[in-house]
Amino acid sequence: MNCDDIKLIISEYIDNELTKEKEAFLFTHLSSCTDCREEFKMQNSIRYEMEINQKEVSEQFERRVFESIQKQEQPLIKSWITKSTPAYINYALGFVIIIISLFSFLQLGSLKDDLKGFQEKYEAAFEKIQFQTQQINLMMNSMPAVQIIGNPVKM
Ligand SMILES: [Zn+2]
Repeated sequence: MNCDDIKLIISEYIDNELTKEKEAFLFTHLSSCTDCREEFKMQNSIRYEMEINQKEVSEQFERRVFESIQKQEQPLIKSWITKSTPAYINYALGFVIIIISLFSFLQLGSLKDDLKGFQEKYEAAFEKIQFQTQQINLMMNSMPAVQIIGNPVKM
């Protein structure tokens, strides 16, 4: 196997396509051949730089993706906040609830007054009725007994 073959093997090694047997063979050759050792170093450094470039590219890519996600998320979050519960709606709702409860409380108060008035009227009417009943009873008692039998009084 000459040095040209070794150069092929080196590229295979760098591409991680080399078998363990060939790898041992390669390093045996490299230990004894300066040219191939230089070739190995060169290809390895090229590969290393490529990896670094790839890493930088992928990092840049990730950063760009992250940035674009952030750019997309920010208005999304803003719209979500304004969509779900804007503060002024909460305040307006609270205000409306307070007004309604105040109004119903006032209505309840007036209802109480109405009820009180109704009770007073009812009591007055009841007293009137009682008075009338007493009057009727007095009239009945003053009437002759014969007429009472034909028309029994319900007490
Ligand atoms: Zn060689």
